[in-house]
Amino acid sequence: MGKEAVRTAIQIDFSKKPYEQPGVHNRWHPDIPFAASVKQGEAFHVQCFDWTGNQIKNDDSADDIRALELDGVHFLSGPIGVEGAEPGDVLVVEIQDIQPFDDKPWGYTGVLDIAQGPSLLDDLYPEAIKAVWDFEGVFCSSRHIPHVRFPGLIHPGILGTMPSPELLAKWTERETKLFDYHASINSPLQIARLPQEKGTYAGSSIEPEAYAKVAKEGARTIPPREHGGNCDIKNLSRGSKAYLPVYVKGAGLSVGDLHFSQGDGEISFCGAIEMAGIITLKCSVIKNGVKDFGMNTPMYLPGAVEAHYGPSRYLTFEGISVDEHGKQHFLDAKVAFKQAVLNLIEYFKQFGYTGEQIYLLLSAAPVQAHISSIVDVPNSCMSLSIPADIFDFDIMPKEGKMVKMDMGSCAYLTKK
Ligand code: ZN
Repeated sequence: MGKEAVRTAIQIDFSKKPYEQPGVHNRWHPDIPFAASVKQGEAFHVQCFDWTGNQIKNDDSADDIRALELDGVHFLSGPIGVEGAEPGDVLVVEIQDIQPFDDKPWGYTGVLDIAQGPSLLDDLYPEAIKAVWDFEGVFCSSRHIPHVRFPGLIHPGILGTMPSPELLAKWTERETKLFDYHASINSPLQIARLPQEKGTYAGSSIEPEAYAKVAKEGARTIPPREHGGNCDIKNLSRGSKAYLPVYVKGAGLSVGDLHFSQGDGEISFCGAIEMAGIITLKCSVIKNGVKDFGMNTPMYLPGAVEAHYGPSRYLTFEGISVDEHGKQHFLDAKVAFKQAVLNLIEYFKQFGYTGEQIYLLLSAAPVQAHISSIVDVPNSCMSLSIPADIFDFDIMPKEGKMVKMDMGSCAYLTKK
């Protein structure tokens, strides 16, 4: 007997709002009813919205990024019950494939307005901007960032299991402490998003009592946590395996925030090439794996599918823990990473790109970031490497004046 057809466990109806979909939710909570169940070893498709639930348009303005309604993000598909999974087990999720929808062969990279949330360079680029990417098979290119084309290392930004009530309470307690400490200093939205009723969605089959609980207690989906969640690991692509701790009977697997491609760091927050699409998964369970592996957070194995650029085709920029105002920080890797990004941006401006275009490109293209050293007091050294072969011109350093080209522009707000 041959193999059975792959069934679609969760379907999206794009004629309806995310808040009307049976298999969609936007909080982590053990009382959210399973939207589907699967057997171990069974391959299944899961259809996913983009992270915003279809709020962004394929156009040349960043107005939709500025108008983003963030109380409802991320819109995830699930939870999916996996037969036989019990607390303490490890759920092995094999990512067999990810594809955009045939009628949506495009995605976008955005920088949010500073009032909406943080991004690495929000002090320098505080306004909403956007680039739209067109997909051609495995490749993508953008009319907003010309002379660039590369194959996508396609992956889910979010893959996670449902927390137990105890774990959920622990998350809320520690994040509230941090929030309370920082809220007096910084804009609260720059620190953490705590549970809130506004925008909560927990699927169409939830009873009112359970909904009230989810609205009050449900963890927001922005940070990665022990269960996985918004890890944004660019190499968790086709053929990868993720090992996720199980906290509730059936695991409650959810997935979403699909990315056609992303650079290490996803520096612009609405970074990566965000898209709607279909992910094909297969699950199995390792009994008592959490204890046996001494596991606190997920592990994963990257797949074998990846674009290969020669090792000496990555132009690499450095950053140290001295900020752009000349202030010395102590081994601060974030300061160092920001400097590497700024140094790269400055270099590419010499070809005619704007800073905004390269900021968006670094969120989207397969750039690699490494902590090169974190003990050489007082400076950490971060390196940021960009593959030269994603450009259709020579980007290597040469003597003499660099030739500026007409690079157009990314999408800005319609009026200031
Ligand atoms: Zn994303």
